[in-house]
Amino acid sequence: MDDVRSRWLRPDSGQLQTPVAQLVCNFAESVGGKPALLTHDDVTTLFHEFGHGLHHLLTQVNERDVSGISGVEWDAVELPSQFMENFCWEWDVLRHMTAHVDTGEPLPRALFDKMLAAKNFQSGMQTLRQIEFSLFDMLLHSEHDPSQDFQPLLQQVRDEVAVLQPPAWSRTANTFSHIFAGGYAAGYYSYKWAEVLSADAYAAFEETAGADGLPNRDTGKRYLQTILEMGGSRPAMASFKAFRGREPQLDALLRHQGMATPG
Ligand SMILES: [Zn+2]
Repeated sequence: MDDVRSRWLRPDSGQLQTPVAQLVCNFAESVGGKPALLTHDDVTTLFHEFGHGLHHLLTQVNERDVSGISGVEWDAVELPSQFMENFCWEWDVLRHMTAHVDTGEPLPRALFDKMLAAKNFQSGMQTLRQIEFSLFDMLLHSEHDPSQDFQPLLQQVRDEVAVLQPPAWSRTANTFSHIFAGGYAAGYYSYKWAEVLSADAYAAFEETAGADGLPNRDTGKRYLQTILEMGGSRPAMASFKAFRGREPQLDALLRHQGMATPG
């Protein structure tokens, strides 16, 4: 997803410029006259990018630099996108939007359960890996003396969080391009942080869903008004607290990734 133009009350003409976003997708085309098929991963990506699109299009902010996705903090801009991915892991959603290409049958529940189990396989290890990278990145930029070797710092972090220690000759940090060539210096944590925010926001819908499983209309309206419409016009934490009534909590993420059961 990319923004073509942003919502902006133009000071020159007094006209309101409406926002435009584009999704550029790379999906397989149809073969042999059959319908084009999307993998589950394709659909999840589409939902993710569509979430960015909604964030950009539904803004009510008139100041261009902070409307839509503009001016949103780096570590919160993935909230609306990852939020949308959750729908791709809801049985009630998937069974209505999947169909076998020949028979038209929806995705079998047994296959969905296996997909979910595969998604959550070793999610604890995945979490620790991300924490190891995040902590190393943050300490490197906050406490480390750049004239000194960074390898002992990495080892110190691993001693604290890693379950499996890599071999001594491993040079992971030398290829950790995110933090010296990818714009994530002192910001690698934002991958995991955005997961916390989006999972906790989605949990608000789980908590307020009706007996029929449908999302609560008021929760949706509050999500729209406190998060999607606000863009970068105030700190992301202020928007989150306005929606959730408190600071973010870890519980929903641990539950969604299979590391905790509903309490
Ligand atoms: Zn994204």
